[in-house]
Amino acid sequence: MRNLIIALLLLAMFPIGVNAEDAAFVASPERKRVVVIDPGHGGPRPGKVMRDVVEADYVLDVSKEVQRQLGEKMSDLEVYLTRSSDSAYHENQAADNRKRAEFANKKGADLYVSIHANAHKKTTVTGCEVWVLTLNDKLMSQNQDKAASYADDGDFINLEDIDRTSQGFMMAVARQLDNEPFSRYFAELCCENISKYGLANLGVKAGPVFTVLYYFEGPGVIVELGYLTNTNDYDYLTSKGAKKEMATAISDAIVCYFKALDGIADEEPAVEAAEESAGVAVSHSVTVNAVEADAVADAEPLTEGYTIQLISSTVEVPTDDYQFKGYKGRVAQYMGTGRYKYKYCYGSYASAEEAKEDLAEARKTFKDAYVVRFKDGNIVTK
Ligand SMILES: [Zn+2]
Repeated sequence: MRNLIIALLLLAMFPIGVNAEDAAFVASPERKRVVVIDPGHGGPRPGKVMRDVVEADYVLDVSKEVQRQLGEKMSDLEVYLTRSSDSAYHENQAADNRKRAEFANKKGADLYVSIHANAHKKTTVTGCEVWVLTLNDKLMSQNQDKAASYADDGDFINLEDIDRTSQGFMMAVARQLDNEPFSRYFAELCCENISKYGLANLGVKAGPVFTVLYYFEGPGVIVELGYLTNTNDYDYLTSKGAKKEMATAISDAIVCYFKALDGIADEEPAVEAAEESAGVAVSHSVTVNAVEADAVADAEPLTEGYTIQLISSTVEVPTDDYQFKGYKGRVAQYMGTGRYKYKYCYGSYASAEEAKEDLAEARKTFKDAYVVRFKDGNIVTK
């Protein structure tokens, strides 16, 4: 629940920019979300090799397990891996990283998760950390030293190589304004989940300018599971079940992230169980404010009962819009949360069964229309 509140605060603080593509009306349920998981390194670049552990192989196993688990946890999510074998896109590391980001752009990824294991000259350095992109001057410069200590350049872009007057950089800055709160929110979830397994939580970090994050156009992170160079981290990461646990931590964070974006309260199972055993009725509900109908002919927004949601949209749609022509004066607008927060519904029914009788007709025009229930002014999702 706390995570949801954070997400909603973020959404309130940083409204999502609407571009031409987003503005397209999307029928509900919304289009499938897409995640790209990037197992770091591969092919000519094994990453850190520590005794019998090869980073590229290790993170590939974890990534495949994340994909498998997401198939079980979120069947309406499309999950792609940037590589599924010991391979790379390009012999040049910078080009390889860029191509991974471009792969994710082509897939229309909503989230990009690059998975790595860490290494440090100082063997006392321990814990998990998650990196997000920054284009903040101070942060970028502060982390140049850190960048220089990486074994491989090509993972990041040298500040001297960035032309800050270029259109490419301007566009990256514009994207970053939209994406950063989301990347950070997801990064926090990853850190929290991974540290549940006994790895210290070093938190969310920003800078240097990572190539994969710079060229990917949506929210993205680089997860560093732990330090292979540290005995504690190494022992944990090579222990039985660790790969699966790391995958669970990441896949749970992904599920939580999308649920928060959808505005669906994801109560702690333990809390829910406790409430149920105490005889408290539990319902997962989303606060949806009924908007006063501005035109006399508009339908009265519902606070109780069932209605048919025709579409949801990232932008406001007039209720007398051409697409609602068959439902003139009978469409009500509701404000939900999440990206597709404008919801347009038709009809008022006492039971789900009654609503379903009209649903077939509605689906002739709005093929993804579905029945929603209102209780105390909220859409009840479960
Ligand atoms: Zn790595």
